[in-house]
Amino acid sequence: MNERPRLTVLSGPSGVGKSTVVAHMRKVHPEVWLSVSATTRKPRPGERHGVQYFFVDDEEFEKLVANGELLEWAEFAGNRYGTPRQAVLDRLSAGEPVLLEIDLQGARLVRASMPEAQLVFLAPPSWDELVRRLTGRGTEAPEVIERRLEAAKVELASESEFDTTLVNTSVEDVARELLALMKVL
Ligand code: ADP
Ligand code: 5GP
Repeated sequence: MNERPRLTVLSGPSGVGKSTVVAHMRKVHPEVWLSVSATTRKPRPGERHGVQYFFVDDEEFEKLVANGELLEWAEFAGNRYGTPRQAVLDRLSAGEPVLLEIDLQGARLVRASMPEAQLVFLAPPSWDELVRRLTGRGTEAPEVIERRLEAAKVELASESEFDTTLVNTSVEDVARELLALMKVL
């Protein structure tokens, strides 16, 4: 059996709690490395460049794509997001576990280029709870929420493409389960 840490991809519909779970996990285990993506989305209040994302403009994003610096990238609800390649490869070759928090399209691209990656789907306890969380976060305008809920329907229908599903009822439980899957615990 191969016990080497490998690449883990966490995906799931917008508002399901991916960032919350990852933030909790990192609070408990700060040594777990999470890839920081580049995005053309504007920062939400409290988000900082280089922490949640590298916030770039369209031109800078184009350059990253043209120079082959992204392991994968996708357009999601009107913005582009991509995973810087080198940092991920460096961690993996150092034998450290790597976590990517990316959308469904990105997860599919990773699966195609790195078949050994493990794909984890974070599911909401129910559709109504997902709507409550996405709306309750209060960071998006109503039309952006609509767009993200449309994308969520597609994401939820793709759950069977993933190796494992975790239902986000308790942030602490899901973070623990994720760490176990990453063989950190
Ligand atoms: P995502 O990163 O998947 O878009 P967030 O982490 O921003 O989602 O979470 C969306 C909202 O749901 C936030 O307001 C967060 O506090 C809340 N939330 C996350 N996980 C839970 C949970 N297990 N129970 C209740 N609320 C949660
Ligand atoms: P948000 O704008 O809510 O931070 O993220 C929107 C969506 O983009 C989420 O599903 C998130 O997982 C995804 N995302 C974040 N970074 C990346 C990335 O580097 N690549 C891809 N494909 N999706 C990403």
